[in-house]
Amino acid sequence: MTTHREPLDSVLEAVGETPLVRVHASPDSVPVYAKLESFNPGASVKDRIGRYMLEAMLADGTLEPGGTVIEPTAGNTGIGFAVAAGQLDVDAVFVVPERFSVEKQQLMRALGAEVINTPSEDGMGGAIDRAHALADELDGAVVPQQFENPLNTEAHYETTAPEVFEALDGEVGAVVAGCGTGGTLMGLARYALERNPDTHVVAVQPEGSTYGELFGEDAEEGEYKTEGIGTHDVSTNELFDPSQVDDLKTIPDEDVHEEMARLASEEGHLIASSSAANSLAARQVAREIERGEVDVPHDSVVTVFADSSERYLSKGVYRSFEEWTG
Ligand code: PMP
Repeated sequence: MTTHREPLDSVLEAVGETPLVRVHASPDSVPVYAKLESFNPGASVKDRIGRYMLEAMLADGTLEPGGTVIEPTAGNTGIGFAVAAGQLDVDAVFVVPERFSVEKQQLMRALGAEVINTPSEDGMGGAIDRAHALADELDGAVVPQQFENPLNTEAHYETTAPEVFEALDGEVGAVVAGCGTGGTLMGLARYALERNPDTHVVAVQPEGSTYGELFGEDAEEGEYKTEGIGTHDVSTNELFDPSQVDDLKTIPDEDVHEEMARLASEEGHLIASSSAANSLAARQVAREIERGEVDVPHDSVVTVFADSSERYLSKGVYRSFEEWTG
C-alpha cells in the first residue's frame, strides 16, 4: 500500500491511503482486517466521498466554483464534504437530524459550513426533504444526495477497494461492512466481485434497522444507539443492492457496546459503534469460513472501522451500557 510519505499540498491529498490492520480476536487461519478510516483528515470514511463527489461534480459542471452543496447527513458526511468544500471554493450547508452527535455538528461549523437541524422524529427522510427544499430556493445549489448518488459507491470502488486489494495482494475472501447509505459496502463489493465472483459479501446493521425487508425478512423496527449504520426506511437507501449481498448480520447494541470496550482495551482501537458492529460481524464471518460453512476464494475477511470513539465521548460510549443508551 502506498502511504503519504511525501509532503502534501493540502489536506485533500491526505484523504485515503489509510492503514489496514489485523483484528486479533479472529482465527489465525482466517484473519480479519479493518481499514482504519479515522486516519482521514476529517477523521472518518466519509472524507472519501466528500473529496470524490465534489471533484467529480466540479469536473462535469454539475457544480460550479462558488456554488453550494446542501446535504442531509448524520454528521460524518458533512465533515467530509466540509473539508473538501473549503478547499474547492464551494459553500456547504448540512441538514442534520437533532439526535446525532453534537461534536460532529461543531466540527462542520468549524470547517466553515452552515448546519440546520431537523426534528429527530422525522428521521433522515425529514432531513432529505428539507435539503431539497433549501436547494430549490438557492441559485447554484446542488444536493449530492449520498443515499442515491452513484458517485458515493464509485468513491469506494475507486479508492477504498483498490487500497485493500493492494495491501492484501488481491487475497480478499469476504467483505463485511455496516450500511448507512450502503456506499462503502457496494463499492467494495463491486470491485471484489469483478475480481472474483465468489467473494462473500456481508452487510451489517444494528438490531432495530430494517434492511432485512430487502431480503424478504420480517424486519422488526426499533430504536438503536449504534450510529451511522442501519435504516428505518429502506426506500431511501437506493444504492443498496441486495442482489450483491450474500448475508445480512444484525448486531444488538449490547454487543456493540462490549466490543467497543474490548477493541480499545485489548487491541488499542479507539473506534466507534459502527466499527464495533463491523468487527463483530467480520469475526462471525471468519468463524463461518473456518468451519467451512461458507466458500470463499481466500481465507481472509476485510471490514471498515469508519470513525473514532473520540467523536462520541459525550454520549458515554465507554461508560456503562445504561449510560450510553439512557
Ligand atoms: N459508520 C459511520 C460512523 C458512518 O457515519 C457511516 C455513514 N453514515 C457508516 C458507517 C456507513 O457508511 P455508508 O454510508 O457508506 O454505508
